[in-house]
Amino acid sequence: MKITNPATGAVIANVAADNAAAVRRKYEVARAGQDRWAKVPIRKRLDAMAGFRDRIVAMQETLARTLTHEVGKPIRQSRNELNGLLGRIDFFVAESLRALREEKIYSDPKLEERITHEPLGVIANISAWNYPYFVGSNVFVPALVAGNAVLYKPSEFATLTGLHIAEMLHEAGIPRDVFVPVVGDGATGAALTRQPVDGVFFTGSYATGAKIAASAGRRMIKVQLELGGKDPVYVCEDADVQAAAAGIADGAFYNTGQSCCSVERIYVHESIHDAFVAAFVAEVKGFRMGDPMDEATYIGAITRRPHLDVLKKQVADARKKGAKLLLGGSVVRGKGNWFEPTVFTDVDHSMALMKDESFGPIIGIEAVADDEAAVDLMNDTEYGLTAAVYTPDAKRARKILAKVRAGSVYWNCCDRVSPRLPWSGVGHSGIGLTLSTYGIQTFTRPKAWHLRGA
Ligand code: NDP
Repeated sequence: MKITNPATGAVIANVAADNAAAVRRKYEVARAGQDRWAKVPIRKRLDAMAGFRDRIVAMQETLARTLTHEVGKPIRQSRNELNGLLGRIDFFVAESLRALREEKIYSDPKLEERITHEPLGVIANISAWNYPYFVGSNVFVPALVAGNAVLYKPSEFATLTGLHIAEMLHEAGIPRDVFVPVVGDGATGAALTRQPVDGVFFTGSYATGAKIAASAGRRMIKVQLELGGKDPVYVCEDADVQAAAAGIADGAFYNTGQSCCSVERIYVHESIHDAFVAAFVAEVKGFRMGDPMDEATYIGAITRRPHLDVLKKQVADARKKGAKLLLGGSVVRGKGNWFEPTVFTDVDHSMALMKDESFGPIIGIEAVADDEAAVDLMNDTEYGLTAAVYTPDAKRARKILAKVRAGSVYWNCCDRVSPRLPWSGVGHSGIGLTLSTYGIQTFTRPKAWHLRGA
């Protein structure tokens, strides 16, 4: 399998991919390794995870460069991802003992009721390329700590990062038959989901997630899907326009708009629409697009080349239906995959730009008359990952956010993930969750003990 740098189009590595027979063998290896791993005391498993953290710190710059080379992410943002990863590992290491400890729920002289948290067994962890350290570690760190074996399939577009992860985990003491990387494209991922695993934990698109859910459904195994979003932001008329424009522009264009929780739709109260648009466009004009290895770059490459067509089609559709293009709108000619930062106004929900996941540096801004209209539009989507509101009025923010269907809601912030809070979606954004203490327990099966003494 060829690994290509999306910023230049150059082939940077060739790796051997696993065919269906190799995937089967890897499954058998993990099945044999899991039993032994589950018997290793949890403190030892946590020590190995602390060793993994030490290796990330030691290799941080190499890891950041590899990530930038294979996905086109600006180097500063690659470093940010690795720093964020350390915080997530810290959270899991600090919280796992408490989250997984045996609980005595009830006792009287004749009866005791307890819960233990049993590992699921062997799980498949199929991961996306946009934040490979985040979306991977949200699964494999707590899953390993809880005593599972993990068959880890990085996206084909983040394979080198996936192999770094495997190497560091193995060096830190996670046995090779407990964390097993599976390398390949979508066909390899599909072969993995056909194995008799005890759970499938997937991060990726709705389209692929739906296929995985269908294939796993008949086997009655745990399926967790972290999928896409069409995340809205509403700016009220009392908001600080400059601060909102700066925060939302970052939320829409960070990681070149290729985040599951990127801002994908902006609704602005009509009375401040023009002022907000002017401030927003000024912010976006300040974003530098270019060589992802350059420290000053903020907008990087589009990781998957076919995605340029999706962006082009959304632009053409919006223009045809009367949207006003204020900035960008085109593929950048030359080597690699590049799309200009693009801003539209005069958009509506007849346009793909406001309904389908864009997953790129492109955004529409729509004027709304009041809070009710804003909430109706925010909820007019199959997705429900995150939603945000900007206003100084706490009561008003809570009232609006309470009505929005989304896994995470934000007041005066956006495009934010905390390891302390559950990460989940509604509708086509997925099922299940990662992060928080729930995201530790999700890799276990609670077992109920009814104990009656003689
Ligand atoms: P894809 O759905 O294309 O791929 C995700 C993973 O599934 C990859 O490893 C892919 O392999 C693999 N795969 C592809 N086809 C199959 C199949 N039939 N069976 C099993 N596995 C398969 O998503 P992307 O990697 O392009 O990621 C972008 C999407 O992920 C966006 O929609 C984004 O919103 C979402 N996402 C959601 C997050 C969340 O937390 N909710 C976080 C991050 C991203 P390969 O890449 O090798 O083809």
